[in-house]
Amino acid sequence: MSLLLRPNQSLQPFNTLGIAARAAWLAELETLSQCDELPALARQQPLLVLGGGSNIVLAADFPGLVLLNRLRGIQCLRQDAQHLWVQVAGGESWDDFVQYSLEQGWFGLENLSAIPGTVGAAPVQNIGAYGVEVQGWIDRVGVFDWQQGIHYELGREACQFGYRDSLFKQVLRDRVLITHVVFRLDRQPCLRLEYGDIRTEIHQQGLAVDQITPMQLRHIIRTVRARKLPDPRVCPNVGSFFKNPVISSARLQVLQQQWPDIVHYPLEKGQVKLAAGWLIDRLGWKGRAQGSARVHERQALVLINQGADSRDLLALAAQIRDDVRRRFEVVLEVEPLIIGLA
Ligand code: NAP
Repeated sequence: MSLLLRPNQSLQPFNTLGIAARAAWLAELETLSQCDELPALARQQPLLVLGGGSNIVLAADFPGLVLLNRLRGIQCLRQDAQHLWVQVAGGESWDDFVQYSLEQGWFGLENLSAIPGTVGAAPVQNIGAYGVEVQGWIDRVGVFDWQQGIHYELGREACQFGYRDSLFKQVLRDRVLITHVVFRLDRQPCLRLEYGDIRTEIHQQGLAVDQITPMQLRHIIRTVRARKLPDPRVCPNVGSFFKNPVISSARLQVLQQQWPDIVHYPLEKGQVKLAAGWLIDRLGWKGRAQGSARVHERQALVLINQGADSRDLLALAAQIRDDVRRRFEVVLEVEPLIIGLA
């Protein structure tokens, strides 16, 4: 079955900000054999791959072909005494896979519960939550390179994972589609419970920390996230809009003179991570609006979009960045990909 290319399509249903940009062409990629058509299509126009559209901001109409990754399938490739290697197609829902993996007794992804999007999008920004990053569970990533017209796999090292970053967001952007991810999961659970919100919820539910099961932890994380992060179907958003900035300990000491309660976490090599949400909240941005965009009332890192385009949202983000730079001398980096900004 060849790709069905539909002209002049609205992208509003395919991005969680609900932006009503249009694509010159739209197609759903459902089989690996359809990848063979991509090199010829890519010579005629730009291609953009979308999974769940939960980490992009459409700043303009897209003048080329938008591909919706609809590849499906989950397969356990092999196992040894400690681990299992599981291949998952890029179009599978991330959170459904997390649920499925725990039901099978495949452990490790608990803390990454309730992150929207697809499996193919997970390595792109190296999704992370509550002290766990997906890179820790990835063995390799399978791609189709539409410039060269070939399928190949990249081992974890080759993916150049960083904080909410990877090769797929950098040099491989605009040239590959992630067909599958091979995860190496654990056969025995080893739970990560250090984040304050998790501990508080365990305590509030009257559970014993040393008896929590991986599935209980998943439910705890779903509960905490549902309380703090708005449902994109109700309040269109892309989760965290800014990355947490990393600065030196020396710079932190200077900031602490003016802001003694600044929230920070130590990293390696004399670096510290600042909580971007705290910086934004401290400057009074929670709940503030710019036209049809506003800062979420409960989580200052989340921007809500209620307009048909992204103009107000991007203007609000720019105002926040300027304010943070002026008051803290810290540069906030935007986390989602901005598509179509000149
Ligand atoms: P939070 O728990 O209110 O914490 C605020 C910030 O402080 C977080 O960004 C987190 O950094 C950091 N932090 C908190 N406790 C920490 C600890 N024990 N050790 C090291 N760093 C700590 O954050 P939140 O906004 O509600 O988000 C909860 C988790 O979900 C965070 O890990 C966040 O990154 C994650 N999340 C991920 C996405 C995404 O992948 N797009 C979207 C939304 C939320 P880190 O962000 O580095 O963990």
